[in-house]
Amino acid sequence: METYDALLASISALPGTGRTIFNPATGEPVGEAPVHTLDVLEKSVAGAVAAQPGWAALGHDARSAALLKAADAVERSAEELARLLSCEQGKPLNGPNARFEVGACAAWLRATASLPLEPETIVDDGETRAELHYKPIGVVAAIGPWNWPMMIAVWQIAPALRMGNTVVVKPSGNTPLSVLALVKVLNEELPEGVLSVVSCGRDVGARLTEHPAIGKVMFTGSTAGGRAIIKSSADTVKRLTLELGGNDAGIVLPDADPQAIAQDIFWGAFLNTGQTCAALKRLYVHDSIYDAVCEELTAVAKAMPMGNGLDENNVLGPLQNKAQYDVVANLVEAAKSSGARVLLGGDADADQPGYFYPTTLVADIDNDNPLVAEEQFGPALPIIRYSTIDEAVEKANGLDVGLGASVWSSDVAEARKVAARIQSGTVWINRHGAVDPRIPFGGAKQSGYGVEFGVEGLKALGVPQVING
Ligand code: NAD
Repeated sequence: METYDALLASISALPGTGRTIFNPATGEPVGEAPVHTLDVLEKSVAGAVAAQPGWAALGHDARSAALLKAADAVERSAEELARLLSCEQGKPLNGPNARFEVGACAAWLRATASLPLEPETIVDDGETRAELHYKPIGVVAAIGPWNWPMMIAVWQIAPALRMGNTVVVKPSGNTPLSVLALVKVLNEELPEGVLSVVSCGRDVGARLTEHPAIGKVMFTGSTAGGRAIIKSSADTVKRLTLELGGNDAGIVLPDADPQAIAQDIFWGAFLNTGQTCAALKRLYVHDSIYDAVCEELTAVAKAMPMGNGLDENNVLGPLQNKAQYDVVANLVEAAKSSGARVLLGGDADADQPGYFYPTTLVADIDNDNPLVAEEQFGPALPIIRYSTIDEAVEKANGLDVGLGASVWSSDVAEARKVAARIQSGTVWINRHGAVDPRIPFGGAKQSGYGVEFGVEGLKALGVPQVING
């Protein structure tokens, strides 16, 4: 375990020209990230190719044991990692934020290590005996976004390693330090070459998606990024898991209790200050309880402090970068000029340091307003009125993405019926965005394909092989 300063210094000392990373809450420098070139990428891939047979030969038990030790290493450095994550990404230490994310890294490593995966006997009828096994793919590229940089890296790394693959990680250029630090800590317990990071721009990173030595790309990011990767990986027929953008709907049924659901709706929408792929981004509320839900939600939202993540009082932080800040500010401005009613927030304060956008609730907004129809990925929630369930379901299904969704009701059986009509990879009932390492998670429509987590997620990091005879 290293001190925070020693951890940062070791990253700054990595080969490659340094690039200063700034804290989105203050504009102050956090540290220096290397800028890796194609040479470094080639060396990392070659190292991963060389290490892979030995890692695969260890078998599931030894690899799981290594993942458990890696989880211990994360816990030993948890406070240093959380501080770095808070300074670089902006999310507060407190609340479901930086410490929570580092805790999730350890939890996912442990859960992935303990998932059962035995060969399956598919047919055994006296004449034919067919068994299904899962072999390692080889080298996996893990390409991730800036919103949950450590946790999503572990979501990609842990099952890939468990299945006997080696991994080259390419973090987002917005949050390289968090991933470099995480990998450094994981590597306290992993053999050399098994896990490496290439801290590079998108142009250099794109090489991973066409590289002949890469067997699979685990990609989490925008739908546009996913489309580009499908194209660039086509010539080498790579396996892909694509976790892409969403614009999740929540439907509040007429029998829901506004006061009882307000807090969970708030966190479903504003987790990580709204910068969460499977956050609730469009809330459909039945006309009969519309005003009550707006009132309760406003009361909860008003009470949630936003500010510098190192201040333990705060549970909401800044947007991670200026581009995302502008997306949110412009969408809210467009909603205001269309005549929508702002219940809370809605005024960007460009004078303050940092990319803080106030918690914003917008009512009486049309379903085709861009704040509803586009992924705003920030702390602004549009609340849309509906009068029949058919209308709400049609609106929820009206976009070409479908990552998550939720139904809110006092009658779980009724909520399940509505859930079955929604086109998304997950539908939560009376909560939103709750992921679990035992339960498959993935998108429908243009939110991607393939699943992560659970035994299904493990299988996605292997090549199915049938032994027949
Ligand atoms: P992004 O697509 O801009 O970038 C994601 C990562 O991919 C970055 O590391 C980027 O450098 C890299 N990248 C992009 N195009 C590439 C290419 N052609 N070749 C190689 N690498 C490439 O996404 P972002 O802005 O960092 O993240 C926000 C988006 O991610 C949102 O749309 C959000 O919904 C989505 N997301 C989805 C999930 C999920 O599980 N479905 C989870 C988190 C975030």
